[in-house]
Amino acid sequence: MTTDSHTPINETPEPISFEQTGLHPSLLKAVIETGYTTPTPIQAGALPPVMAGQDVMGAAQTGTGKTAAFTLPLLHRLMPAANSSASPARHPVRALILTPTRELADQVYESVRRYSKYTPLRSAVVFGGVDIGPQKIALRNGCEVLIATPGRLLDHMEQKTVNLSQVSLLVLDEADRMLDMGFLPDLDRIIRALPATRQTLLFSATFGNDIRKLALTYMRQPVEIEVAKRNATAENVSQIAYLLDGADKRAAVVHLVKSRGLKQVIVFSNTKIGTSRLALALEKDGVSAVSIHGDKSQADRMKALESFKSGELEVLVATDVAARGLDVAGVPCVINYDLPHTAEDYVHRIGRTGRAGASGEAISFYSPEEEKYLFDIEKLTRKPVPRAKLDLGDQATSRKRSSSTNVAGARSDSGDRNDRGERGNRNSGQTARPSARHDVKREPRSPSRGYTPTVKPIDEFFLKPYVPATTTSASSAVEARVTQKTGLTAKRPALGVLLGAKPKASI
Ligand code: AMP
Repeated sequence: MTTDSHTPINETPEPISFEQTGLHPSLLKAVIETGYTTPTPIQAGALPPVMAGQDVMGAAQTGTGKTAAFTLPLLHRLMPAANSSASPARHPVRALILTPTRELADQVYESVRRYSKYTPLRSAVVFGGVDIGPQKIALRNGCEVLIATPGRLLDHMEQKTVNLSQVSLLVLDEADRMLDMGFLPDLDRIIRALPATRQTLLFSATFGNDIRKLALTYMRQPVEIEVAKRNATAENVSQIAYLLDGADKRAAVVHLVKSRGLKQVIVFSNTKIGTSRLALALEKDGVSAVSIHGDKSQADRMKALESFKSGELEVLVATDVAARGLDVAGVPCVINYDLPHTAEDYVHRIGRTGRAGASGEAISFYSPEEEKYLFDIEKLTRKPVPRAKLDLGDQATSRKRSSSTNVAGARSDSGDRNDRGERGNRNSGQTARPSARHDVKREPRSPSRGYTPTVKPIDEFFLKPYVPATTTSASSAVEARVTQKTGLTAKRPALGVLLGAKPKASI
C-alpha cells in the first residue's frame, strides 16, 4: 500500500440522510431513535466503503461522529450472521474493536449497544482495572462484537478465555494514541492472532508516519478518508494563552471558574500527582473539583466521570490519558494548567470542548519556560494561539492568604503518559497466570451505570457540509478526501465536499 497516491473527488456534495446510506433497517431504527438524521462528514465518508467490505483509514477530529462512523457499518456487516440462538457457539467474536483507554472502550461499547439494540447481535467490553471474572462470563456467553483495551485482551488470550479465530472485522480506534502509549508490541501480538482474511478499519485523530507504517503492515489497499486538516484544532474552539507564573495558575483557575460561573471545566495537568494536588487545592478554594488519572482505581475514575457528566462538578482535573476520548456534552472550556509537552496532546485536549459542533474555549497557562511548547503547538496546528494578560483581581490576594499547597511543583517525570498499568504479566512469557493487579480487585462493573448516552439535539454543525477553514496557504487548507489505493476512483458525489488536495504528512 502506498499512502501517497490520492484520488481526490471534486463533485459538489449532495446532502444524504441515514435512510439513503442503505443501513440495515434495525440499525436505522436505532439511529433515528438517537435523534440523528444526517451523517456527519466522517460518517458519510466511511459508511459506504466499510459497508462494502473495504479496509478504511479514517482521520477525523474528535467530536466529529467518528464512533458511529465505524460502529454502524460494522454492525451492518455483521447482520447476515445475526441470530437469536441461545447457544454461545452461535455468537462467536466476529468484530474486535481495540481502544487505548478503558473510558473510551466503555464509550464505544455504549454506542455499539445503542445501535444494536434492535438486533440479536451481542456485544461485550473488556478492560483492565476491574475484576476479570465477569468479563470471562460475558465472553463465555458469546458476543459478536468485542471492545477491548489491548492489555486486558492479551490477558484473556493468555488465559484462553477468548476465541478470536472467527474475527472478520478489526477496528483500531485512536490508533495514534495506542502507538503513543507503547501498545505496538501488544497490537502486533493481537493482530497476528487474528485470521489473515479480515476487514481492518483504522481510526485516528492524526495520521503520523507510524500510523501509516501500521496500516502498511496490516491493511489491504485501504480507502483513506480525511475530513479535517491533519492535526487541526477545531474551528469552533477559541484559543487563548495567559502568561502566569506557577503560583498564579491556581488562582487563575479559581478566578475563571468563579467569575464566569463555569461548570464542567476540564483542567489538564501533566502529572498524576499534580492532578490530585490541584483538585484538593481547588476544593480548599471553594471550587468543586475531582481529579482523574491513571493511578486511580477504575471505580474512582468512573465515579469522578459520573459526577462530572451529571454536571455536579465545576472542575475535573485530568491527565491526558484519563481524559482521552471522553465525550462529555457541554464542556464550555478546557484549561491547560500545564502545557502538554507533545503538541498533538494539545489538539486532543482541546477537542474535549466544542463537541458536536458547539462552541468551546481552550485556555492555556504558560510560564516563560513553557512558551516553547506553545511554539510547537502553533507549528503543528499552523495557527497562532493569541496571548493575553489575565487580571486576577482579588483572587491573587486571596490566594496568598489561602493554603500554601504547591500544586505547580509536581515532578514532571511522574506523568500519566499511558494506561499500560492495566496490563498483566504477559510479557513475562508465562501463560494462564492472571495478573494479580487485575484479579485482586473486586469491582464488578455495571456497564450501563453512569454512561447513559445523552441524546443531544442535532446541532446545525452536522447539517452543514464541511467547510474548509480560511487559511493563508493552499498547503494548510483544511482537506478532506477519499482515496482508493487500488487506483479506482471512489466517485461519490455526496462526498465531494470532503475532498481536496493531499495535505503534507506533519507528524
Ligand atoms: P464522536 O466523535 O464519535 O465522539 O461523537 C461526537 C458526538 O457527536 C457524540 O456526542 C455523538 O453523539 C454526536 N453525533 C455522532 N453522530 C452524529 C450525527 N450523525 N448527528 C448528530 N450528532 C452526532
